[in-house]
Amino acid sequence: MTEPAVVPLHDELRAIDAARIWHPYTQHQSAEPRLPIARAVGACLYDHLNNRYLDAISSGWVTLHGHAHPTIASAIAEQAHCFEHVSFAAFTHEPAVRLAEQLATILPAGLTRAFFSDNGSTAVEVALKMALQYWTNRGETRRLIVGLDNAYHGESFGAMAASGRGAYTAPFVEHFFKVVRLPDPAMDGGERTVAKLQRLLERRGKNVAAVIVEPLLMGRAGMRVWEGKTVRAIRQLTKEHGVLLIADEALTAFGRTGPLFASGGAEISPDIICLSKGLTGGFLPLGVTVAREEIHAAFLDDGAGKRFLHGHSYMANPLACAAARASLTLLDEESAGRRAGIEEVHRGKIAELTSHPMVKSPRVLGTLAAFDLAVPDGGAAGREEPSAPSLEEFALKHGVLLRPIGDVVYVLPPYCMSPGDLAEVWSLIGMWLEVRG
Ligand code: PMP
Repeated sequence: MTEPAVVPLHDELRAIDAARIWHPYTQHQSAEPRLPIARAVGACLYDHLNNRYLDAISSGWVTLHGHAHPTIASAIAEQAHCFEHVSFAAFTHEPAVRLAEQLATILPAGLTRAFFSDNGSTAVEVALKMALQYWTNRGETRRLIVGLDNAYHGESFGAMAASGRGAYTAPFVEHFFKVVRLPDPAMDGGERTVAKLQRLLERRGKNVAAVIVEPLLMGRAGMRVWEGKTVRAIRQLTKEHGVLLIADEALTAFGRTGPLFASGGAEISPDIICLSKGLTGGFLPLGVTVAREEIHAAFLDDGAGKRFLHGHSYMANPLACAAARASLTLLDEESAGRRAGIEEVHRGKIAELTSHPMVKSPRVLGTLAAFDLAVPDGGAAGREEPSAPSLEEFALKHGVLLRPIGDVVYVLPPYCMSPGDLAEVWSLIGMWLEVRG
């Protein structure tokens, strides 16, 4: 009798994955099977063959301090041995209470009332529903949401409606509620954005419930950086016209852009802020939408009529809250120093590439560095079909995880990435430009 062939775990997992699993944004007819990751530590991922990959994109922008950070791992384990979950409709618990308290002390002034959910899209969905019901509760018929061209706020219907239009929203677009869109603030220094908002608020301000923005950095649009003065002008106009400003900081919070929050970096405080991704350091899904006390006050009533009509099974999950609390303790002076170090390496390395004919619009904002690829057909930032897929493959073969967005190449490492490893990521990008150019 012949022995059955020994299938290494690596191959077995790929085969079962290919047969059983549906991956996001993937054309499974042509896609290569995904690479199974066996373990991760710090800025490194390892597959089952013990190949190492430097995580230059923080695993989908969620990993803050590094993979498998022992402080966060222990906090989750400790909480899991205590209790894992209870209904937040019926109870409260220390991890959520302490986290809400901690957030109130570090968030931009006035953001003190936390509503928990479980991802970035739900954090946005909550903010939109909160804004709409706020006006209903106050007896005003303000129905309009205002968003930015090219924005990205998530995958659920409200979040998609508030986002810019493109291939990802096309099949669903007829089901969206109406959103008034402002020009992309990363163009023309944001002047057209502010001018259109001003005209809109002067004419129809009393119909506008909220304006939603990704302050300073529009991630999925292609890491488009916009100016603090535009954020401030939007804040000023919304204040003057009594319209709510929602800051979607799913990506930008917790030091990503340098300061703890992009809103703070732009010297504003919104009415509602959406947090997720790095909130738990990248360990567990959690969302939180934090509002000003005045907003919460509009939901108070003698009867049940005005209460906020929203909730989730896993809201304020204690394990996720414990992870978030541990992650916040790691956002200390040392972390700020590491982030500043990353920004310095980014600036030095991107400067070395700027003379390359394929490198357009190089930009650095805190731990993010990006440039657009000048491609033969002119390219377009944020274009959804990548013209640079080969960089991803090339990088992976050389032990680096990079995933360009369309023609936009970006590096967004976890804060633990050493200057040497970060320099390795940049020299690989340089190598690829040479091979391609
Ligand atoms: N808002 C922004 C600004 C985001 O970048 C994202 C995710 N890329 C989301 C919302 C949605 O978050 P999630 O994927 O957790 O639903």
